Amino acid sequence: MKYSEIRRKTRIVKVGDVLIGGDAPIAVQSMTNTDTHDKEKTLAQVRALESVGCDIVRLAVPDIAAAETFSFLKQSGVKIPLVADIHFDYRIALAAINAGADKIRINPGNIGSREKVVAVVDACREKGIPIRIGVNSGSLEKSILEKYGAPTAEALAESALYHASILEDCGFYDTVISVKSSDVYKMIEVNRILSAKTDYPLHLGVTEAGGEHTGTVKSAIGIGTLLAEGIGDTIRVSLTADPVAEIKAANSILDALDLARVRRMNIVSCPTCGRTKIDLIPLLAEFEEKLDKSGLRDKPLTVAFMGCVVNGPGEAREADIGIAGGIGEAVLFKHGVVVANKIPASEITDRLIDEIKRM
Ligand code: SF4
Repeated sequence: MKYSEIRRKTRIVKVGDVLIGGDAPIAVQSMTNTDTHDKEKTLAQVRALESVGCDIVRLAVPDIAAAETFSFLKQSGVKIPLVADIHFDYRIALAAINAGADKIRINPGNIGSREKVVAVVDACREKGIPIRIGVNSGSLEKSILEKYGAPTAEALAESALYHASILEDCGFYDTVISVKSSDVYKMIEVNRILSAKTDYPLHLGVTEAGGEHTGTVKSAIGIGTLLAEGIGDTIRVSLTADPVAEIKAANSILDALDLARVRRMNIVSCPTCGRTKIDLIPLLAEFEEKLDKSGLRDKPLTVAFMGCVVNGPGEAREADIGIAGGIGEAVLFKHGVVVANKIPASEITDRLIDEIKRM
């Protein structure tokens, strides 16, 4: 079944030039971890994130002075949409909106009086920018917590819809909902509930997921399970690591599900076994290093890297280009046809790179 057939229908929200929801590609987000007051460092990190394929960047805005960084980034030519992450204080939200934020993350139930909510909603409406509601176990309202006795998936979903209803009361529907949990099962469950109850676009993420390795695995399971069911419109992988690693992980999740905005190289490589007659593991590392250096990683090709002539030729033939290893040498396939026999191991990666350049 095609992905477009299983993807849940959500309303479309516009963040700068990026669309979230509907049939739009899944947008990849991260968050800067520089001090937002430090404009130059924040600019450098925003640019680094943009360069590895980030679609939307969020910045913590703890006070009004930090909101000025949005003007600075826009004046510096930053094109990637910027989200202001605000807790409670509507004046900071207004400052960030005026400074050029493309989206606000704030929970309307935490803003205070209706007048303050209306002030934020009116400012967003005037500039055509959406609001993201962000709920997690720690943000749950006392009444909802008492009703459910614990921060269950149902309780979290109810909280998110409660915040959305406050915006609806102001006639505002340009809303993105995110409910995150560090519990992968709960994160999956709550998004299934939300997907059944609302057509607001959903921002997916496993929160406090851990370091680069464990966090990537948890995120791949949580986010990947939902995306494979057609649920989710934008994603953030949360890692205790450089935010650039979050984008690499998010893009790998999308690549694995063939949902990336731009299809990149798909490398199919065997795990090696007792039949392997060529030193495949260092050869693949060498190949990937050369790919990155030559800027060829974005070519939308399937490249097979197989260790033997038993199973190797089958995979290699399916790929756009590939090798199947023999004893210290390899056979090269291109579009299912053998184009060279007995390439010495020392020449394999250069030959592959040359061939890929011409494809
Ligand atoms: Fe082993 Fe060949 Fe399979 Fe690689 S392709 S794991 S070498 S049988």
